[in-house]
Amino acid sequence: MKILFTSRRVGDPAYRSRDSARRGASLTRRLFPSLGILLLLFFQGLETRAADALQNAVGVLTVDERGISLAPASTNCPAIVARGEPVWAVLMQPDTPPPVAGTPVVLTDKNQKPKREVTADGVRLIYDQLTDGQRTWRVGVTLDFHRQGDAFEVTGEVRNAEPGWLMCGFTGPVLHGIRADLATQPALLPDGLGRIINRMSDDKKAVNEIGAEYPSRKGTMQWCAFAGEQGGLYYGCHDPLHGAKTICVRRDAAGQTYGLAVKHEAFCAAGQRWALPPTLIMPYAGSWHVAARYYRAWSEGVVQPLAVPEWARNASGWLLCILKQQNGEVHWDYSALGKLCDVAEARGLDMLGLFGWAHGGHDHLYPEYFPDPKMGGAETLRRSLQEIRERGKRSILYANGQLIEQGTEFWEREGRALAVLKRDGTPVQQTYHKYRTTAPFRFGLGCLAAPAWFDRMLALAVQAHALGADGILYDQLGVNEPLACYAAGHGHPVPALVYVEDRVRFLRRIEEHMRKLNPDFIVMTEGLHDSVLGSISMFHGCMTGTFAVSGKEMLARLHRQGNSAPFPELFRYTFPAMLTTIRMPTPMLDRAMANFTCVYGLRFEIETRYAPDRRYLCEDRVPEAADYADVINKPDLALMHTTPPAVAARYLKQVIEFQRAHADLLWRGRFTDDEGFALKGRNLVTKSFVAGNKLGVLVWNPGDQPATFELTVPGATLLAASEPEQDKVEAFSLLPPQSIRLIEWKRSKK
Ligand SMILES: [Zn+2]
Repeated sequence: MKILFTSRRVGDPAYRSRDSARRGASLTRRLFPSLGILLLLFFQGLETRAADALQNAVGVLTVDERGISLAPASTNCPAIVARGEPVWAVLMQPDTPPPVAGTPVVLTDKNQKPKREVTADGVRLIYDQLTDGQRTWRVGVTLDFHRQGDAFEVTGEVRNAEPGWLMCGFTGPVLHGIRADLATQPALLPDGLGRIINRMSDDKKAVNEIGAEYPSRKGTMQWCAFAGEQGGLYYGCHDPLHGAKTICVRRDAAGQTYGLAVKHEAFCAAGQRWALPPTLIMPYAGSWHVAARYYRAWSEGVVQPLAVPEWARNASGWLLCILKQQNGEVHWDYSALGKLCDVAEARGLDMLGLFGWAHGGHDHLYPEYFPDPKMGGAETLRRSLQEIRERGKRSILYANGQLIEQGTEFWEREGRALAVLKRDGTPVQQTYHKYRTTAPFRFGLGCLAAPAWFDRMLALAVQAHALGADGILYDQLGVNEPLACYAAGHGHPVPALVYVEDRVRFLRRIEEHMRKLNPDFIVMTEGLHDSVLGSISMFHGCMTGTFAVSGKEMLARLHRQGNSAPFPELFRYTFPAMLTTIRMPTPMLDRAMANFTCVYGLRFEIETRYAPDRRYLCEDRVPEAADYADVINKPDLALMHTTPPAVAARYLKQVIEFQRAHADLLWRGRFTDDEGFALKGRNLVTKSFVAGNKLGVLVWNPGDQPATFELTVPGATLLAASEPEQDKVEAFSLLPPQSIRLIEWKRSKK
């Protein structure tokens, strides 16, 4: 749980652009050069040699010396008119032990002479060796462009035969000259639950590039799209190994067209080959849901969907509680967990997320987690966890999946040897500082490929189970992007990309082990990316689309007012079975957030982390800023002052009881976004859920005025309409401000 870190970074496209720029400025300049030649494209048609043109039902893809062009069959998909910029780049670095100096050498397809072969389904370009203009590199590249059903697929490989050099990245296939109009074909990016790009800065000085770093909360899936209402362009990497990559969308400096690129991070030593994962380019007809289903169909063949225990599918969400803080202050000892159950019950929350439960407190002494004698000892903890279950609640114990505190006995004894090392040979470091009056703590990151780190983390799950918890949260494993690890002795080649497929295996092995012990025990993590859908029963939200939103902001989203906005529909629709909580680092949430969580089918959370949070929950005492004087990352005080505690608690419980009463649709049903119905009405958020032949539509009026509306579902019978505060209502009567309504239909069997 790293709120400061989170809220500053997630949802801030400006930061993301700078971040991307820092990482690859020189490379992107070469791949997307300044575009004096732009005008050329207006005079050049798609002159192609027949052998290089791949045709299928959706368009013609042309590969020639100008790059990759696309003439889609439908005008709903943007055309691509290549202009001669590089289509790919290989990055090379010296193969030496750390510290590795300098920046990578970038070799692109420009000024190379490939052999061209016509294949059964397309064209193959073979580069036996590469030149940088001065010298020859014994690096070979093959790219295969072929038809793949309604898509065009690019595969290939890099062959490194250059002694003393390591391939450290590959960018491509790069698309330039995409003639999209964001006003009608916004870009959808897999940032968190999703992001919609309505326009990109036309500041000539800015780097107009936004990247999604996969797999991490900043890049949760391997696809993006220019998505019009009637059709669009899908660009996805179908990489079954979930390799490290950044999917980038870029606005050309002249502002006329857009670019797309996949920047792969991978190592390939001399004498080895690296396979380029398949990249799919596909014009599609229909809404963006068509593109989402295309990705889903591929993904489901790669990641075995997890059978989430019934209790978790029927859980409303959690009360996150930091029992003992980083400074050693105990806010809830083990005997107070019954009181915590009361607080959860008064709000309808089914789970308790127990953070800071171990001797070190929160964000201290990781990865050692012992029941704390000062908080009542192991026996009291066991009895309290038992009581939680007897009261129909579930408990999740915390463990950080990656942090090792530096300077501790564990660090000296084992930790240092397990830590991820950077290319300069020093450990990757993160700092967490919660109180002004105490010193910050510094942490290294455990290498997930190291067997001893796995053993320690598995032992924590086994301990949590033995203590009587219903699950374990490995904090942060859905958050961070992959890292290069230069440490020897971790069981991986040096260097290696870690927090990639090693993270997938790590979590899957733990999940499988625990499932055998107890099929009802769940594994959770913070953040989200689809590579771990096979092992995580529920995510602890900490990504774009899970943070607090107001009714006003929802209206702005509806009217696409911002340059970009969270678009949680994207992941929810692509993977409707995925469970995640929202992120609410405050001991309450307001009406807007309760409605948002319900309408998007997310699970609830509120948090109690500091003494004034506890007083708020137990004594209805609304805190002031001075109460948190020493606290660096305060809860949302303004929000706490907008709604009286009892009112906020009551509405949260009403919404949850409403979901429970309609759990077949709202918890266990399939989220189908805006499919299946037609809306007549303005300023309303409407989302559908399907269970069998039942269709439910949640309508949310986030505004301040009552709203009139109508919904139609062809060939279906209206069953009922209800609201959290009213059991039976007229389906299309006025919807009060800041209210939600569920309308249910029965559809005739197909
Ligand atoms: Zn390592």
